[in-house]
Amino acid sequence: MSERNLRLPFREGTSIEINYPVGPFGTKDSPAIVKSVFDKRIVGCPGGEGEDEHDVVWFWLEKGKPHECPVCFSIFQAGSGWPWGSS
Ligand SMILES: [Zn+2]
Repeated sequence: MSERNLRLPFREGTSIEINYPVGPFGTKDSPAIVKSVFDKRIVGCPGGEGEDEHDVVWFWLEKGKPHECPVCFSIFQAGSGWPWGSS
């Protein structure tokens, strides 16, 4: 990973696009949608609840490229939109 990729376009103190996806876990038929206004973003998978929980695994998620968590096999997919939006 290059240094350029690590520079996030946010000022200090601003909420950045590093947060856990919430909601039901992703499957191939119904991936967990992680909203982003960028072409790719960092996603941390903490696993599910209870026994399904695992140490957080961080990975880059690119639009159009669903990613499978190597630990719990949950499927994530990048969607368009503001992750901290008003909804
Ligand atoms: Zn996982």
